[in-house]
Amino acid sequence: MLNQVPVLNHIQLPLIQIVNKDDELLSNNRDAQWYSILKNFPWEDYRELAVSYYNALYDFNISKQLKEDTIENKETKDEGRQRLLFNRATMDKSISVLHEMKSKQIAVPLVSPQSVSPGVVPKRLGGKRPKDFYALFKSFTGACLMGFAPEPEVVHNLLSSNLSFARVCGFIPNNSDEKYWYRSIPSLRKIEQFDQIMTKYGLWSRNKWEEVRRNIEQGIIKKENELVGDTTHYHAYSGFETVAYTDPKGKEKKKSQSKITKNCRCEDQENCSHPWDLADDGAGTIVKSNGKMIWGHKASVLGLPRQGVALDATAVTDAATFDGETLLPHVEMLFENLPEVKPWIGRVLYDSACDNGKLKDTFMDRFGIELKASFNPRRRKSVTQNLPTGMAKITASGNLICIGGFEMDYKGARFDFDKFIYQAPLDENKVSVCSGCLHKLTCSPQSTKGRAVTLSFDMLPSIEPDDPPMAKRFKAIMMRRPSVERMIKRLKRDLSDDRLRKRGNDSFQAYLDKTLIAYHMLLRS
Ligand SMILES: [Zn+2]
Repeated sequence: MLNQVPVLNHIQLPLIQIVNKDDELLSNNRDAQWYSILKNFPWEDYRELAVSYYNALYDFNISKQLKEDTIENKETKDEGRQRLLFNRATMDKSISVLHEMKSKQIAVPLVSPQSVSPGVVPKRLGGKRPKDFYALFKSFTGACLMGFAPEPEVVHNLLSSNLSFARVCGFIPNNSDEKYWYRSIPSLRKIEQFDQIMTKYGLWSRNKWEEVRRNIEQGIIKKENELVGDTTHYHAYSGFETVAYTDPKGKEKKKSQSKITKNCRCEDQENCSHPWDLADDGAGTIVKSNGKMIWGHKASVLGLPRQGVALDATAVTDAATFDGETLLPHVEMLFENLPEVKPWIGRVLYDSACDNGKLKDTFMDRFGIELKASFNPRRRKSVTQNLPTGMAKITASGNLICIGGFEMDYKGARFDFDKFIYQAPLDENKVSVCSGCLHKLTCSPQSTKGRAVTLSFDMLPSIEPDDPPMAKRFKAIMMRRPSVERMIKRLKRDLSDDRLRKRGNDSFQAYLDKTLIAYHMLLRS
């Protein structure tokens, strides 16, 4: 009987080599990159992770049998709702802005690294032999590599319907009899359990950082002196309710919040002693720049703009958090996990959400990093009154337009006179646009090099004369900022899906981690 194959501590050489024609075709197909990545998977690099997984599985199996303490709780549903509202990161400033996973620690590690390799699972776990870590791990990253959401139902579907995929992951397609065999394709429940253990014990996260580090060590990610950041949203798999509350100043307010629930199976949940919890912690209302509102989860993304490489994506504790608040803690977290990157970085780019003098000072004081944010005009209007002759308007970002419709070139500032200097641009023949302009006679009849204009600093009070947004240097640096949007597109659309299938921030963080693992494997291939 097959399920009584003796446990081997070394790798059994295959006695029969079965060649599947489809698999061979996939091997040679450039579009099926997922196949060659999974086939040439460097399993030795993942040995530590495999060992941690089997230890976690053992720990999980024991702790499942232990009863949870019941906490006496007399809270009504509405009291629970209010308590949870005031515990959100957008209500309580002492709560960290970025989601912190409380990873479960393993009590007694039992598995030795020598006892694991693909197809060889440790024997000390008691009961049935566990499913192979490598095969399960490859199934999840493989789903992402093919562009599917790395979630259990999807993985189960792929394994059952795509035999080449199942084989390259390391499973042996099932026979019709339903007896458990550790090499056969696992049930949905086993796949869910694997994902749950990898999430709860922080193994997805740990591996994510290792993938990035590996790419740095192998020179696939090169040194770069800038970081770029942004946030992005994913649609939540939950509904919300509007909760009315009284703020500390006594004002009546409303806020959308996840519905609340209890994680128990008691019949009378309204009155049992278990605590109320948010059904989807972390979800919140995200307001887009066009005013559109989305019920979702928010992630902060950091990357290297010149190479266009994402380094991390982290869940924001409460999706309703303002974008400007996530950058500082995220850069801090990145440097903690990838200290080798810290000395590279001299500047960080962000959109106008971080155009804030205090935040810029904090970056400089704490890390010696210049924070460069797109200019936020703060709803200022263009200036059209009291302008120098021939000028039509100055935009809120300091761009000067003349009555001939040309945008003047910004040349610099004269600090001894507190003035900005502009000059008419040249046309494609390197001749001043003024030479052919109808307004030349009234505007600058004497000029030979075209109209020159100076504007007092006072006319543009919101602009920092040291670092004005209309300067070429500023514009050239900010040209690199949108590269973060391409990173986000890659993570959200090419490698997964922006509609979540699970609730809660732990699952959301795991989702981001799984996507990043696949992303960094692809960079290597
Ligand atoms: Zn209960």
